[in-house]
Amino acid sequence: MSQNVYICPYCQSENIQSYNIAYAGGVSSVNGVTTGVGIGMNGRVGVGIGNTVGTQQTALSMMAEPPKKKSTTGLFIKGTLGIYFGLGIVFLVSGLSKSNWSLVIYIVAYAILVYNIHRRTVWNREVYPELRRDWEHTYICLRCGNKFRLEY
Ligand SMILES: [Zn+2]
Repeated sequence: MSQNVYICPYCQSENIQSYNIAYAGGVSSVNGVTTGVGIGMNGRVGVGIGNTVGTQQTALSMMAEPPKKKSTTGLFIKGTLGIYFGLGIVFLVSGLSKSNWSLVIYIVAYAILVYNIHRRTVWNREVYPELRRDWEHTYICLRCGNKFRLEY
């Protein structure tokens, strides 16, 4: 009898499932993506994007959620709206809009936004593939509930 490598290292059960399969098994009941735009009391605009998760999505599937790339377009839109509306209103109210300082603050705010987008881009390029690889090699034991990596 050959040694079966696809077993749980904790309880030696063969009843294990890859995260990939565990996630796909429950994903069909996910309803879709909802997007919402709201303007807060302080004049800041917020854009929210969230997954509408159906009640039928299994707990196992939720646990086995794959890593997601960070949205750079989302951040760009959100950041730009925030800078223009948020700062715009602040400057208008404070009277700063006529001052040269407002331009400096706009530029600084934009630089911070671009920097953050850059950081996300780097994360997506360098960290995300590793997380994704980890995820693809992660298994869950359906007997004891432990998760572990298998590299075969
Ligand atoms: Zn186990």
